[in-house]
Amino acid sequence: MKKKLIPEIQQSLLRWYQKEKRDLPWRKTKDPYSIWISEIMLQQTQVDTVIPYYNRWMKKFPTIQKLAKANEDVVLKHWEGLGYYSRARNIQRAAKTVEKDFGGRFPKTREDLLSLPGIGLYTVGAILSIAYNKSVPLVDGNVIRVLTRIFNIHDDVLKEDTKKKIWSIAGELVPEKKAGDFNQSLMELGATLCTPGTPLCLICPVNSLCKGFKESTPSLLPVKKKKMEIEKFLGWMFLIEKDGHFLLQKRKKGTVMGGLWEFPSFREGIYDHPKLALKAKTKILCPKAELKGTVPAAFTKYRGLFQLTHCPMSKSKSIKPVLEEAEETAWAKPKDFKKYTFSAPTRKAVEKLSLSDSRNKI
Ligand code: SF4
Repeated sequence: MKKKLIPEIQQSLLRWYQKEKRDLPWRKTKDPYSIWISEIMLQQTQVDTVIPYYNRWMKKFPTIQKLAKANEDVVLKHWEGLGYYSRARNIQRAAKTVEKDFGGRFPKTREDLLSLPGIGLYTVGAILSIAYNKSVPLVDGNVIRVLTRIFNIHDDVLKEDTKKKIWSIAGELVPEKKAGDFNQSLMELGATLCTPGTPLCLICPVNSLCKGFKESTPSLLPVKKKKMEIEKFLGWMFLIEKDGHFLLQKRKKGTVMGGLWEFPSFREGIYDHPKLALKAKTKILCPKAELKGTVPAAFTKYRGLFQLTHCPMSKSKSIKPVLEEAEETAWAKPKDFKKYTFSAPTRKAVEKLSLSDSRNKI
């Protein structure tokens, strides 16, 4: 990179950021705890979605001490709907570590921060530059897009070498002063103007410095060659009902959506009939098992549909379901569902069948 480009890019972006930055709740503070929570929530999630979650979270857990002492179910409840629940669990484990090993004070060095669960190089860069104004780079999806375009980099960004190259460019660019604002300006540019697809180059503050714009290639960048292999499925979700109560299972930790509650669900859809599927997966016999539609599901590499099966059981019959992926089970009335942190497909099933509406009978 030509040395004289560095101050030009820094000044153009800082000036633009000062004028155009969006007014976001976590930008009103330099508190490392708040910056950390917002950065973890923003991973894989849109800003508009995060704002209400962030505000609720900070009201409930205003300090790292309150978070460390909170019940895990309450923590997960405040994350419900954001997905990737391991992030919430890691946040609480990290809060406990800060309490225990760092006297309740948020660490200030790269090594100490990296020792906390769920904190990687990106989050370290965000905390050190935004909260402590240290000259440390950060690279996320937005920064990758902006830098590959400004420097017209056509290498596969999923390759380690390319990642290293981008981190090194980000390191050269980050200024000694105003490092936090500069890092945020790169991310802001990626989120608002230098967006995926066709970027808004004509109003971009660095268009005169951008090689991708000059070569008319921004919409081709960044290059990503490897794709995650998606596994499709058609599975079953059983709404086993007895005396107005529904059987719920809390999934074992370490399984997909571990720690969340759901109607017993299975991704394997090889059975021809709901009764056969129910018997095979839970050892329960239910002659009245009946299909009630489907709900879509998407988690990690899985995309599919769960076939909603209502299984009304007679009051007198005692049942002992075998649920291999359950850490805990419960029988709950629909009016009490709000006490449970549900997986997304189960939440969709509750909404689809209007189960929370006490007048409804499926
Ligand atoms: S000129 Fe276009 S491609 Fe280059 S950084 Fe700006 S928005 Fe992105």
